Amino acid sequence: MNKTEPLGRWTKEKSEELYGIKNWGAGYFTVSDQGEVLVSPQKDNATGAVSLMDVISGVKERGLDMPVLLRFENLLDSQISFLNNSFRKAMKKLGYKGEYRGVYPIKVNQQQQVVEEVTKFGQRYHHGLEVGSKPELVAALSHMQDKEACLICNGYKDEEFIDLGLYAIKMGFKCFFVIEMPGELDLIIERSKVLGVKPNIGIRIKLSAKAGGHWTESGGDRSIFGLRVSQLIEMVDSLRDRDMLDCLKLLHYHLGSQIPNIRDIRSAVQEATRVYSELVAEGAPMGYLDLGGGLAVDYDGSSTNYTNSRNYTVEEYCSDIVEAVMTTMDSTNTPHPIIITESGRAIVAYYSVLLFDVLDVEKFELYLIPEILPEGTAEQVRNLHDVLKNISHKNIQECYNDALYYRDEIRDMFKHGRISLRERSFAEKIFWNIIHHIAKLKEKLKHSPPDLEDIESAIADIYYCNFSVFQSIPDSWAIDQLFPIMPLHRLLELPKRNAVIADITCDCDGKIDKFIDLHDVRNTLPLHEMRNGDDYYLGIFLVGAYQETLGDLHNLFGDTNVVSVRIDEDGHYDLVREIHGDSVADVLTYVEYDPKVMLTRFRETAEEAIREGRITVADRREILSAYDNGLRGYTYYEQ
Ligand SMILES: *Cc1c(COP(=O)(O)O)cnc(C)c1O
Repeated sequence: MNKTEPLGRWTKEKSEELYGIKNWGAGYFTVSDQGEVLVSPQKDNATGAVSLMDVISGVKERGLDMPVLLRFENLLDSQISFLNNSFRKAMKKLGYKGEYRGVYPIKVNQQQQVVEEVTKFGQRYHHGLEVGSKPELVAALSHMQDKEACLICNGYKDEEFIDLGLYAIKMGFKCFFVIEMPGELDLIIERSKVLGVKPNIGIRIKLSAKAGGHWTESGGDRSIFGLRVSQLIEMVDSLRDRDMLDCLKLLHYHLGSQIPNIRDIRSAVQEATRVYSELVAEGAPMGYLDLGGGLAVDYDGSSTNYTNSRNYTVEEYCSDIVEAVMTTMDSTNTPHPIIITESGRAIVAYYSVLLFDVLDVEKFELYLIPEILPEGTAEQVRNLHDVLKNISHKNIQECYNDALYYRDEIRDMFKHGRISLRERSFAEKIFWNIIHHIAKLKEKLKHSPPDLEDIESAIADIYYCNFSVFQSIPDSWAIDQLFPIMPLHRLLELPKRNAVIADITCDCDGKIDKFIDLHDVRNTLPLHEMRNGDDYYLGIFLVGAYQETLGDLHNLFGDTNVVSVRIDEDGHYDLVREIHGDSVADVLTYVEYDPKVMLTRFRETAEEAIREGRITVADRREILSAYDNGLRGYTYYEQ
């Protein structure tokens, strides 16, 4: 960026390039001729696009303050269509004889509105749901209506969980129990006998294939979920012995989320399809191949296999999968299965944008330091002053080392009472001027010394913003994930300041000092000078997946029971206080569900099953009471 360029020459195209909006915006986000960020309701089609600044006015007129999280339901609709149509196109083109059935994993964004909209927009594609816990199953059952859509049950399942799933099957839903551990089978079979419902069984396997990326611990040999090959064979034998091999219908794996490299995706599919065709050869009916999640989002727009990106398009993802499945199936004369994927991130990431205003700025400016130091200035301060006078591009590393050394010495002297607070303050000003000069000189170097890698952020302005990193983008803090961040307006003006962002928590982790870049990671974000009295708005984009509920509500497990214990002198103990943990209804209320509405809806589903002749009135009573118990139960595994 050329900083001496006159203001008038800055254009929206330059802003688009600087912030990379076309690279990560996926056809939804662009810059208007007025220099504001626009959101388009449909991919690559600016008809009907709205300015986020207009949305902010509307929000404010309704008396809502910043920060505000916007969810654009059109974007969710569009992403579901995009994924389903991409699979359909690939299948048609390659002559695939099975179908695609996506499922949305509730844990990725469990908010009631989100799951509701996913099922609504997904209906025309029979897009179903995936649950990993009892509370998620209870939530899913209040949404499910489409009997063609799949309901995939992962996670560890207790009796209540299994009963609800069996009742769902009885009412006509395509509900699958995915076995993650060998021990789960007994309870499923026992409950299915008691309730007289045949289960649909799936098996989750551990693949030997591993994938790169931050989020991928759940794949690979060492993952804690899924059966090893030897356990898989034992499971097949055990099902055959009990005359239940005809219940085995689905094979599942999950490689991890945000898989940046298409090679890893392809090799996992190849391995799984081999296993699938052997299960068919063993005599299991099968029919469903569930490839889990992992479809990545290009957060930095670089289209590379860097962790915040992906080196493939959604279309490539779909056609590579279809082709790999077909190749194995055809070579073994196995009928083409229904392909399921559990994409969550790619479905909901674009959907939400966090908007907030800047409250205050701390600018970093050069201090005025006299050429000649007054009589009596301490030796160490003089040394620091000499460093400042002698900096050139040839010696920046040396100057940096010296500056640190003298600064530490001066701090030590202060501790021992050998210089005054005023003298120390003067020395620190010299120190910061040195850092400033070094940072400026470094910009011109081709290769910067490793020590000085992020020196820019040390002299960057701090923009204090009205939001909380922990609340709104927890993965930025937890796993250093990068999200696109940019101003929502003034994009026809050159952004002259380089900034880092601080939230209002006053916590040292409540800051953002790493930003997306096409080739690297940036340490500062170019922003506009604050104008007196004018509001300045920023947006954090692509925050729809995994950011809305903090880690402690992952899979909707709630607070545990708490017991306080007092031990007497003679070694006896008393339980002095018991606090009951969250019920399923409690945690669902946190994500905006209303248990009463859920019961009503589920009752309607049961009524419909009676009309369809699937269950009796007596069954209905039992099923509703199981649902009610589920709502009131503990969120964890109950013995
Ligand atoms: C988290 C999870 C997903 C979602 O993965 P994405 O990468 O967000 O699509 C899918 N399946 C299982 C089993 C998961 O645990």
